[in-house]
Amino acid sequence: MEIRTIRGVEDIIPPESEKFEKIVETFKSVVRLYGFKKVILPTFEDVTLFTRSVGETTDIVQKEMYIFEDRGGRKIALRPEGTASAVRAYIQHGVHAKEPFTKWFYIGPMFRYERPQAGRNRQFYQAGCEIFGIANPGIDAELIKMAETILKKLNIKYTLEINSIGCEKCRPDYKKKLIEYLSSKRESLCEDCKNRLERNPLRVLDCKNENCKKVAENAPFITDYLCNECKTHFEKVREILESLNVNFSVNPFMVRGLDYYTKTVFEFKSKELGAQSTVLAGGRYDNLIKELGGPKTPALGFAMGIERVMLLLKNNEKNRSGVFIATFGEKAYTEGLKIAEILREKGIYTEIDHRQGSFKSQFKTANRLNMRYVIIIGDEEVENGFYSFKCLETGKQEKIESLAELIARI
Ligand code: ATP
Ligand code: MG
Repeated sequence: MEIRTIRGVEDIIPPESEKFEKIVETFKSVVRLYGFKKVILPTFEDVTLFTRSVGETTDIVQKEMYIFEDRGGRKIALRPEGTASAVRAYIQHGVHAKEPFTKWFYIGPMFRYERPQAGRNRQFYQAGCEIFGIANPGIDAELIKMAETILKKLNIKYTLEINSIGCEKCRPDYKKKLIEYLSSKRESLCEDCKNRLERNPLRVLDCKNENCKKVAENAPFITDYLCNECKTHFEKVREILESLNVNFSVNPFMVRGLDYYTKTVFEFKSKELGAQSTVLAGGRYDNLIKELGGPKTPALGFAMGIERVMLLLKNNEKNRSGVFIATFGEKAYTEGLKIAEILREKGIYTEIDHRQGSFKSQFKTANRLNMRYVIIIGDEEVENGFYSFKCLETGKQEKIESLAELIARI
């Protein structure tokens, strides 16, 4: 029997994986300009970490987590997201006591038992950033600007939505109003939302059910209930975003799918992705570190869905690069292997045809690999000490006398 990947889990093989690498490299190159350092976190954790941070009434905890008991009887969860682990590590290693503020990034697989569709997998990759220790709304705007720069560098078209979902001071008032409103529409809500209405009415605003979405359209705006602190914070974020030339719209119904957010939340979306439209999302979570046992520390972050960004990357014509060595005859082959090593030592991508096929088949391979140059070596060339050198881009072929000259040309 042929064994295949599990439903909702994907291999990413070349050339698709080249896109994955490009996204990761772009992400890293941008976040390093802002001082983010890589944190490497485990893919499985004590299940309580996620129930306590992501929230008991969220879809993630209620239906999407991969949970198992290990041989020692521990309750384990494959991580559904990265923030909880980053916060746990921040507390566990006492980082707050060592530095006034901390900027971390992570890249890795996340696991959620969801209905697989385009852009929705059960194992998927996120590249994310977390900032601990900064309360100033300026950093919210800067983080959003940085996320925008990543998407721009990848040539992705997006729209940005932001919102403020308040804090522990103002949210209770809003919750009350929301429960009043939702209770009057109770019959139209899905079973999940009926059940979580009283405990966590904000979840209804994030429900993917069509009827719940309709009910949500007429719900009261959270932005009308913000306390002065949250209101000023939100105003400042918008003001700085404008001064940084970031285009955005305020979506008063955006609450995100995780319970730990406070104040600023944001989502970068793409129309090209259909229902799975969010490519990058995040927000502030000023209470989470305290809730997980650390000192009260303001924090914020985001995560980008790498597979979703991959769906948006065009298969743009790749530039030719590298050197292909075509050899004919035993002596030429041995010489070719030596030259290949010399070129690689110089940092030049080099392939040699080990199958030693015909002239035609070697050129065909060079074209398939999208190489830029071909060096042709036959036994005659070895004996007389020259190389034939062809540029596949221009079609020009010439004789070259020495290796030094060859390297200079490339
Ligand atoms: P959605 O509303 O699409 O379910 P979410 O609110 O659950 O997204 P987050 O938990 O904020 O998403 O994760 C951040 C990003 O990770 C998302 O914007 C998306 O790009 C990506 N992502 C989330 N879940 C999946 C998944 N099952 N498959 C692929 N990518 C995902
Ligand atoms: Mg989700």
